[in-house]
Amino acid sequence: MLKRISFKAVSGLIAIGVISFLCLINEGIASENIECGAGNVSKIKYADPVEDIDLHQNAFPIAKIPEELLQVHFIDVGTGDSIWIHTGDDGIDGNGRMEGYNIIIDGGSWGLFGRANGYDAASEYLGKSDRMPIGSTIDWMILSHPHSDHAGGLYGFIQDYDVRNILDPGHDKTNDEEESDRLRTWSAYGRFFQAASAEVFGEGQMANFVWGIPDNFMLDWGAELDVDILWSSREIVDNGLNNVSIVLRLSFTDAGNDISFLFPGDAERHVEDILIKELGSGLRTTVLKAGNHGSNSSTTEAFLQQVRPQHIVITAGNQNFSGTMRPSPEVFTRIQNVSNQLNLNTQVWRTDLGDKTPTLVPVGSESGDDTILATTDGKTLSINYVVNGR
Ligand SMILES: [Zn+2]
Repeated sequence: MLKRISFKAVSGLIAIGVISFLCLINEGIASENIECGAGNVSKIKYADPVEDIDLHQNAFPIAKIPEELLQVHFIDVGTGDSIWIHTGDDGIDGNGRMEGYNIIIDGGSWGLFGRANGYDAASEYLGKSDRMPIGSTIDWMILSHPHSDHAGGLYGFIQDYDVRNILDPGHDKTNDEEESDRLRTWSAYGRFFQAASAEVFGEGQMANFVWGIPDNFMLDWGAELDVDILWSSREIVDNGLNNVSIVLRLSFTDAGNDISFLFPGDAERHVEDILIKELGSGLRTTVLKAGNHGSNSSTTEAFLQQVRPQHIVITAGNQNFSGTMRPSPEVFTRIQNVSNQLNLNTQVWRTDLGDKTPTLVPVGSESGDDTILATTDGKTLSINYVVNGR
């Protein structure tokens, strides 16, 4: 059954002090200014760095990021999602606020059938500079939906980390013979499901595996944050497995802390239309991860008009993906149109930035070079590329 969970509308956004431009087509590699292709706009302008972090150097060990900042890392796993969120840390354990939680949304693909190995790429990134060393606690793991480019790499995370809570939309995915994937460890989803069901952390406690998100399910990622599950479905809607995706919106509790993030998984137009109807301008969010890797199926103009994103992150690799390339040119046109209409100066960030075009890159090499890192205290946002994991 469908389910929609209450959502606190946000009042508005602060202006971020950046002059930004929309990059339509990238042909370059990450650098201070990126020459874009034959589009009518020429350059990406990076956001201003947070004081004391020289983001423009493309080298910032996590130790240099002030611990009180929220970090959102869109890890370059090729075409697939893997997002690491690290909540701010006030250094006081157990006060329920700024607890330094680790959250993983999706794990990228599983390295088969011409896809990059998402866990290899993600774990290499997380291991660098001790960002999240092997054996750390993952407080929440979220599978947006049971496609292999999201579920595939989560198995590695469960093997190598202590996972306390696991959320899964609970769709009983089947193969072409109508056999349930969750019983088949040779499927990407089955391997994840079996590992999630058996995950033990700490002194032998079973992980809390939530298979199917109950109505009014609440997430507590610290008192400074609001986490709203805007959508999740156990059943396929509009003929798309993508539409079972858990859709999350992350924002700050305190008045005046208006930076926010929207993580729609691979949800498509059908879900976007429902959210528009339910929430309207309450969808307004600073940083939008484009649904379904920038596919034509998602990120409609109507959705963009409500979300009004200042930044859009596209998680893609330069690989043929189910017969199409992502992102789709139509999506860039929509972003450009809405950015112009509403004077948003939307910036686009892509995990395929350094992938060579137009030639397809060797499998695996499309991942790992263009992670996108956003850091924020709730009031000011800094966002930039982390090139080659450093
Ligand atoms: Zn996907």
